[in-house]
Amino acid sequence: MGRLFILSAPSGTGKSTVASKLLHQVDGLRKVITATTREPRPGEKDGVDYIFMSREEFERGIENGMFLEYAEVYGNYYGTPKDQIERNIKENVDSLLVIDVQGAFRVKEVFPEAVSIFLLPPSLEELRRRMIGRGYRDSNMDLRLEMAKKEIPCARFFDYVIINDFVDKAVDQIRSIILATRCERDRVLRNLSSVLHSEDILSLLKGGRCYVKET
Ligand code: ADP
Ligand code: 5GP
Repeated sequence: MGRLFILSAPSGTGKSTVASKLLHQVDGLRKVITATTREPRPGEKDGVDYIFMSREEFERGIENGMFLEYAEVYGNYYGTPKDQIERNIKENVDSLLVIDVQGAFRVKEVFPEAVSIFLLPPSLEELRRRMIGRGYRDSNMDLRLEMAKKEIPCARFFDYVIINDFVDKAVDQIRSIILATRCERDRVLRNLSSVLHSEDILSLLKGGRCYVKET
């Protein structure tokens, strides 16, 4: 069974940057391509960065139950399509969901076993610099900064908190979380025969008794 990892942070913190490096470094992890009604930025590709939709298409999607969650962020709709997550779970591939903070809470309500990771900027000043670097100077930057001040306290409700001062460090830490999750007892024991090929150890794990607890 694939697991769901939610990566969330105030806009401009570095979610997309960290996510794209992470996806190159972790096998069996697939990004969920979310849908939006905003215009593509230069270099962004439909079906790769986002599924770009018109407002009418998106609203039809809402009516048809296409989204696990959706939100209006900075005047545009953003939504998580259900079908990709369902497919990943079936194919035993982990899903990486890069979404805003309110979306993260909604997903966690539907999938309480999802692992939520909050990425923090090292300071508000650095967040501002990153927003300018990303070209947000004219697109609601003050609004995004005010929103960041309301989003940062939400970190305490996430399973993990990572400071994105250096991209490679943040990527390493998130990679460690994903790899550790894959070693969780229940996850390993549920799929034993696909990960362990030793018949004698398999039979001890299945039928043996723990000499400390079960004598
Ligand atoms: P988000 O997806 O959270 O909105 P981006 O990944 O688009 O943020 O990053 C915003 C800007 O900050 C980009 O210009 C990116 O290159 C830069 N950035 C991301 N992480 C770091 C970091 N650790 N140090 C310096 N700059 C960073
Ligand atoms: P941007 O327009 O800068 O790419 O994204 C704006 C914000 O919307 C970001 O915080 C981004 O993570 C968030 N976002 C992207 N996809 C989704 C989604 O499917 N659902 C929600 N709730 N937020 C999303």
